[in-house]
Amino acid sequence: MDNYMSFRFKAIAANESLARSVVAAFCVPSNPTLDIINDIKTSISEAVTNCIVHGYGKNTGDIMIEAEIKDDLFSVRVIDYGKGILNIDEALNDFYTTNEEDERSGLGFTIMKTFMDSLEVESVWGAGTTVTMTKNLNA
Ligand code: ATP
Ligand code: MG
Repeated sequence: MDNYMSFRFKAIAANESLARSVVAAFCVPSNPTLDIINDIKTSISEAVTNCIVHGYGKNTGDIMIEAEIKDDLFSVRVIDYGKGILNIDEALNDFYTTNEEDERSGLGFTIMKTFMDSLEVESVWGAGTTVTMTKNLNA
């Protein structure tokens, strides 16, 4: 099946479950296993939480999610317009966090990498971050 969607919402923690439920519902018609759906939901939660906590911090703004399905391949972009990431290679390292005071473990990107088939991070310091992930829905 071929399909696409996008939606935009306020970057607040209350919208985290909205985001992962919408993305899960978008995938369901392709009949993925529950394990695959759960991997996607967890990865969306991690990406959205990063936008809220790191991208916007004490401020808020918009998060945009764009997703598509081509044949069995699901791809999703989680976009924020917040502060950006200075050193992406460093941010992708296991246990790297800039937020130790909130007891973050620095494993969000590690989880996304593990649960999805691919993860790509693009960012412009001061302008925002785009996290692109893909997963085969019928692997
Ligand atoms: P955890 O996810 O385990 O709670 P964490 O969020 O610090 O901890 P990661 O999700 O792996 O760990 O992110 C690593 C670092 O990358 C963050 O500490 C932050 O510095 C940076 N980062 C990640 N996403 C964004 C974003 N959307 N905007 C700005 N910085 C980000
Ligand atoms: Mg995180």
